[in-house]
Amino acid sequence: MAKKKKTKESEVTVQAQPVNPILTTEYKYRRDQCMMCAELPIIEAKWANGMCHSWFCDVHYKEWEEKNANYVEYIKKIINNEASKSFYDNPNPNIKGTETSFAVRFIMYRNDDTSYWHIILDAGQHIASDDNPLEKDEISFYFKQHPGLRQLCELIDFGTVTILMDRELIKKYDFRGNKMVGIYEATADSKDSPFWTLKKVEVPKENKDA
Ligand SMILES: [Zn+2]
Repeated sequence: MAKKKKTKESEVTVQAQPVNPILTTEYKYRRDQCMMCAELPIIEAKWANGMCHSWFCDVHYKEWEEKNANYVEYIKKIINNEASKSFYDNPNPNIKGTETSFAVRFIMYRNDDTSYWHIILDAGQHIASDDNPLEKDEISFYFKQHPGLRQLCELIDFGTVTILMDRELIKKYDFRGNKMVGIYEATADSKDSPFWTLKKVEVPKENKDA
C-alpha cells in the first residue's frame, strides 16, 4: 500500500499518548493496589482523552501527575481503598477542572448584519465562530463578545461543561449538552493570534475499564 498522508486524526492520537511510565514498565492491574507499588490506591484518574483509567498511591500519583498533567481530565478520590471498576461509578466529585453551564446560540446582529455561532460559558468564556460547532468537528473561532444589537438569538443547545484545562494557548472542555457532547480541545498558534481552533477529540464510547 502506498504511504498514507499523516492525517489530523493520527496527530491527535500521538498527542493523546504521552510517554507514560506505567505503560512502559510492568505494572499491576489490581484495583486494591497502586499500579506502581503495593500501597493502597488513593487517587484514580481518567486521562488521555478518556482512554485510560489509572490509580495510584499518593506518592506515585504525584510523580505520575507531574509527567502527565496535560493529559489528565478527571481525578477522583478512591472510595474504600479500591479503584472503581468503571471510573464513572465513583460518585466522588472530580477534583480537576471547573464545572459550569453553557449555551450554544446563533445570534444575528442588527447594526452590521453579521451573525455568529456562540458557545457561551457561564464561567466567562465566550466563543464566537462563523461555523456551527454542532455541524463541524473542527471550527475556527475567536474569544469575543459582540457589542451590537441582536435581531435574532436562537438557543441551539445547553448543558454543563467542565473546563479541563485553561492555559494561554490550549484549553480543553468536556461538554455535556444535548447535542454538544464530548471532549473538545481549543488551541491557538501564538498568543498574538486572535484565531483559535476548536476540535472534537475522539473519545471511545464507554471504554470504561481501559
Ligand atoms: Zn504507589
